Amino acid sequence: MLNIVLFGPPGAGKGTQSEKILKKYNLVHLATGDLFRLHLNNETQLGLEAKKYMNKGDLVPDEIVISMVEDKINKSSNVIGFIFDGFPRTINQAVALDNMLEKKNIPIKQMIALKVEENELIKRIINRSKTSGREDDKSIDKINNRIQVYNQETKPVADYYKKHDKYSEVDGIGVIDEIFLKLCSKIDELT
Ligand code: ADP
Repeated sequence: MLNIVLFGPPGAGKGTQSEKILKKYNLVHLATGDLFRLHLNNETQLGLEAKKYMNKGDLVPDEIVISMVEDKINKSSNVIGFIFDGFPRTINQAVALDNMLEKKNIPIKQMIALKVEENELIKRIINRSKTSGREDDKSIDKINNRIQVYNQETKPVADYYKKHDKYSEVDGIGVIDEIFLKLCSKIDELT
């Protein structure tokens, strides 16, 4: 099983690179932001609840995220591996994920972090806002809040994986295909 956590701040390119990785390695994409946006579009109860947090750039509470992820994992069969994108975003979520995967005996192989500095992140998100239609891309205050939430709550998740000897990083600045190649060489080391 090739379970990978693709990690990085908002705008680091996790979504873009995940799409390429999952095609090459036949993995299942588990992107919590995408799942929430799907619920939001379908106006489900979960979507309406998540919207309150997402539109401000805050994190959706752990118990909501964790049960959604657990459900998705349980419903996926014949999987070679998952690529987790935007999850885990808190230490609580990381511990919950380990517990879920331990029960199934399919642990996380590696967290790979995309390193991108703050100015570049802001530029990318502002650029994306022209086409994303995302409420949380729309104002500089919301973007700044997301980066702050990342620094406070999400960054420590990298230390959790470092402690378990499951951390590596890749420079996320440059041409998309070159970053992809660097990610592939990290992934190939795992298989
Ligand atoms: P980005 O990383 O570009 O900010 P995402 O699509 O990953 O975008 O997430 C969008 C929003 O969805 C987050 O700002 C947050 O409100 C919510 N969200 C996504 N994943 C999680 C998570 N694991 N825990 C809590 N909230 C989440």
